[in-house]
Amino acid sequence: MSEQVETREFQAEARQLLQLMIHSIYSNKDSFLRELISNASDALDKLRLEAFRDKDLDVDTSDLHVEIAIDAEARTLTVRDNGIGMSRDEVVDLIGTLAKSGTAELRQKLAAQPGDAEQLIGQFGIGFYSTFMVADAVELLTRKAGETSGTRWESSGDGSYTIAEVDDAPQGTSVTLHLKPADADDELHDYTSQWKIRELVKKYSDFISWPIRMDVEKTVPAEEEGGEPTVTSETETINSRTALWAKPKSEVSDEEYAQFYKHVAHAWDEPLEVIAMRAEGTFEYQALLFIPSQAPFDLFNRDGRAGVQLYVKRVFIMGDCDELVPDYLRFVKGVVDAQDMSLNVSREILQQDRQIKVIRRSLTKKVLSTLKDLQANRADDYTTFWTQFGRVFKEGLISDGDNRDAVLRLSSFASTASETESTTLADYVTRMKDGQEQIFYATGESRQLLERSPHLEAFKAKGYEVLLLTDPVDEVWVESVPEFDGHALQSVAKGEVDLGTTEEDTADQGDFADLLTWLKETLDEHVKEVRLSTRLTSSPACLITDTFGITPQLARMYRASGQEVPVGKRILELNPDHPLVTGLRQALTDSEDKDGLSETAELLYGTALLAEGGSLDDPARFAALLADRLARTV
Ligand code: ADP
Ligand code: MG
Repeated sequence: MSEQVETREFQAEARQLLQLMIHSIYSNKDSFLRELISNASDALDKLRLEAFRDKDLDVDTSDLHVEIAIDAEARTLTVRDNGIGMSRDEVVDLIGTLAKSGTAELRQKLAAQPGDAEQLIGQFGIGFYSTFMVADAVELLTRKAGETSGTRWESSGDGSYTIAEVDDAPQGTSVTLHLKPADADDELHDYTSQWKIRELVKKYSDFISWPIRMDVEKTVPAEEEGGEPTVTSETETINSRTALWAKPKSEVSDEEYAQFYKHVAHAWDEPLEVIAMRAEGTFEYQALLFIPSQAPFDLFNRDGRAGVQLYVKRVFIMGDCDELVPDYLRFVKGVVDAQDMSLNVSREILQQDRQIKVIRRSLTKKVLSTLKDLQANRADDYTTFWTQFGRVFKEGLISDGDNRDAVLRLSSFASTASETESTTLADYVTRMKDGQEQIFYATGESRQLLERSPHLEAFKAKGYEVLLLTDPVDEVWVESVPEFDGHALQSVAKGEVDLGTTEEDTADQGDFADLLTWLKETLDEHVKEVRLSTRLTSSPACLITDTFGITPQLARMYRASGQEVPVGKRILELNPDHPLVTGLRQALTDSEDKDGLSETAELLYGTALLAEGGSLDDPARFAALLADRLARTV
C-alpha cells in the first residue's frame, strides 16, 4: 500500500511556541529527554489502566517498558514505548495543536513579553516540543492500542508537519530525533553518547516506575596479549524505579524531588516546597506533594490538567484526582499512594469513598500547616506563593468553612498602609488606631480606582488603614467572613461607619432636613435614603450599600455567571461642608425653579455613581444635562 503523505500547518500558537523553542537559548536543553520519557511513562500507565478496564482490548501488557536507542552514525536518538499510542486524530490534536484553553493567553503573553521565552516555556510546559531544542527534525511513529493501522508524523519545526498512515507500526509510540550537531558552548551535549544518556536518565528519570532499557556497549579486553579487544552489546535497565514517595525525606535529594515534580506536574519550574506524608493505621497511605513556584497559565481553568495523582499500591490509577484536594488548593501537585483501596476504583466511587475523605482532610491540614511555616519562617517563599496562587487560595475563605480561620491567617492583602507590600490581618490589627474596633476594607476593580473613590476620603483624612481588595473573588469572600480576632470586617462603602467623629464636626441633620427630604423625593427612583455623611471630606456625595445589601460589583459578578440578583436601592450620603450641598440647600429655600434644581439633584447622584467607578443607567441623559449646565457657565 502506498503511503498518503499529507502536509499540514501547525496551528498559529503552536508555531510561535516552536519558534521560541528552536531559537531561544533555553539553558537546559537536556530536559527534552525527561519530557520524552515522561510522555512514554504516561502512555504506559494509560495502557495498563485501559487493559484493566477493557478486558476485550487486544494488547500485550506483559512487558511494558521504555526503550532508548542510539545510532551514532546516523546521529539519531529514539525513545520508544509500547504504551497506549495515539490515533491519527490524536496526533493532530495533541501534537499539532496547543491546549485550546491556552492559545488566547499565549498570544497575549507573546505580544506583551516577546523576549521572555524562558518564563513562557515555564508557564506553558511544552513537553513534546522541547525536542526541537536538540533536533533538526523529529519523527513520530505511533499506533493506538486496539487499532490496526498507525500514523507517521514528521516535522522540522518550521511551520508545517507531514502526516501519513502506515500499516506496519508496532503498537505504542516511538519518537526519533535527528540530532543537531553537539555544541558545548550552547549546552547542546552529544546525545549519541550512551554515557550521556545514562547520566541524564539517572538524573531526570530514575524514579520512573517502568523499566527504561538501553543497549549498552561494553569493550572486553583481548584475552591474549596484543589481541584486539571485543565490543559486546547487552540490554540493560538504566533506571532504579524506586518510588520516591515511599522513601523517607532524608534519603531523597532536592534534585530528585525537583525532577519528580516536573514529571508528575508536567511542569518546568522548581517546586517551592516538598511535602512528604505517611499515614499508618486504618487507612494506610503515602503522599508526596509539591507547592509549585510558578502558576501555570491555566490556573483558573478548573478542568486544568495535572493535579494530584492517585496510585493504589504503587499502581497508577488516575491523573488528576480532584477528590484528593479541595478546589482552592488545585495548585498543589503530587502523588497519593493508598494501600487499601481497590485497583478498580472509579471517579464515581471516589466521590463517596470514606478513605478518600479522610485523606483529603489530612492533606488539606498538612498543606495549610506547611504554608503557615513558610509564612512564619520564609518570608520570600511565602510572598512567591501568595503572588502566584493567592487569588485561588482565597476561594478557600468561601468554600472551606472548617479551615476558614487558617486560610484567613495565611492570606494577605494590599492596603493603604503601603504602596507595595501587602499585609496580613494580624499585622493590620497591630496598626489599628486607638479606639478602632473594625477592620476596614474597600472592594473594587483596581487600586487606583479605590484610592480615589469618595468612600475612602475620610478614612484617609483621619489616618485609618483600609484594605484594598481588587480580585473578583474578594467581592464574594468578604460576605462570608464576618470577623477576624474579634474585629468585624467593615466595608467603607456599606452601612454606617464610626470614625470617632466628635461633636464639632458633626453637622446638624436638622439644618439639612428640608434638603434631605426634597432630595429623597426627587431621586426616589434611584435611592432609598438621603443622609449626611461622615465619610466625605472633598466630594459632595457618595452612594452607600446597606449593611446586608448586595453591592453593585457583586451583583455584576452574579450577572456575569448567569444569576440575576436584585440590586436594592442605595443610600445617598451628602457632604454637609461641600459648597454644592450648601448651595443646593440655599437654592431650595430661595429658588422658584424646582425643575432646574431637580436636574442638579440628578447630576449630584450621577457624579457620585461615576466617582466610585459605577456606570450610569442613562449616560446620554447625564451628558446632555451636564453639557447644558456647562453651556450656561461659559
Ligand atoms: P503533556 O505531556 O504535558 O500533555 P506533551 O507536549 O509532552 O504535553 O504531550 C502532549 C500530548 O501528546 C500528551 O498529553 C499525550 O496525550 C500525547 N503524547 C505525547 N507523547 C506520547 C506517547 N509517547 N504516547 C502516547 N501519547 C503521547
Ligand atoms: Mg509531556
